[in-house]
Amino acid sequence: SVPLSFFGGIGGASKNGILVKGGNYLEVLANAETVVFDKTGTLTRGVFNVTAIHPDTCSEAQLLEVAALAENYSDHPISRSLKEAYGAQIDPARVTDVEELSGRGVRVKVDGRLVCVGNDKLMDEIGVKWHPCHRVGTTVHVALDGAYAGHIVISDEVKPDAAAAIQALKAEGVRKTVMLTGDAKAVGEGVAKELGLDEVYTQLLPADKVEQVERLLAQKSAKGKLAFVGDGINDAPVLSRADIGIAMGAMGSDAAIEAADVVLMDDQPSKIAEAIRIARKTLRIVR
Ligand code: ADP
Ligand code: MG
Repeated sequence: SVPLSFFGGIGGASKNGILVKGGNYLEVLANAETVVFDKTGTLTRGVFNVTAIHPDTCSEAQLLEVAALAENYSDHPISRSLKEAYGAQIDPARVTDVEELSGRGVRVKVDGRLVCVGNDKLMDEIGVKWHPCHRVGTTVHVALDGAYAGHIVISDEVKPDAAAAIQALKAEGVRKTVMLTGDAKAVGEGVAKELGLDEVYTQLLPADKVEQVERLLAQKSAKGKLAFVGDGINDAPVLSRADIGIAMGAMGSDAAIEAADVVLMDDQPSKIAEAIRIARKTLRIVR
């Protein structure tokens, strides 16, 4: 039978904005050995600032407009940020044939013209030669009717509590902290170094993230558990593959909240170590 302290533990966690979807997850949390993070919206704010606009075939304003229109239907943090930078109302009738390509970008029609907005992988996939960008940040390429139109450089910031969150996990005895990201190598490795993560893997598609989680599951000890923490945009498969899936509840997607076992209501990564602490206290596990 389930000891009463389980419910006390879940209640104590929820007072701190940590929703645990069942008593057995306390046991998993208490034995967390590997903690794997998504980057955008999880360790970083997920709010990008446009730092440069490099058009090839049009004006800066036109490049930003076509990118923002193409992103009209996407909920990805990059999409939200480009629309914010554009600032003007978008007539949805101008945007048709919308395809969201997870881990790569979007492919749509704007005023009947084919527009692709996304990363190097997407450009390679559609056979468009892109220009390498030497600036620090995430490069968003734009292709118009199959021709390169230019790129926009955007940058995100790590969350204020992210570095302390990683330190707190180590203090709780978590052996390995890992970041998996679809973003570029330079960006991912920069964030990982800044936060003191043990391992980082970049340029991953959602399926590659599942593969990495499976590899990490095979590496850990038999008793130790693996937690995956994500904001949800295309994270549902990894959230359910991990021993325990933790989702950011405020900015995160409904699909992630659904797929997750634990939801952090205020999106603060420092709540993970706190959840582990509460779980151990509840189960009276002393390390
Ligand atoms: P992360 O792993 O950091 O959470 P995602 O898997 O959501 O990132 O996306 C990986 C990469 O795919 C982004 O860094 C970006 O280059 C590209 N991308 C994804 N969605 C979009 C979009 N809507 N618009 C432009 N680029 C996108
Ligand atoms: Mg993501």
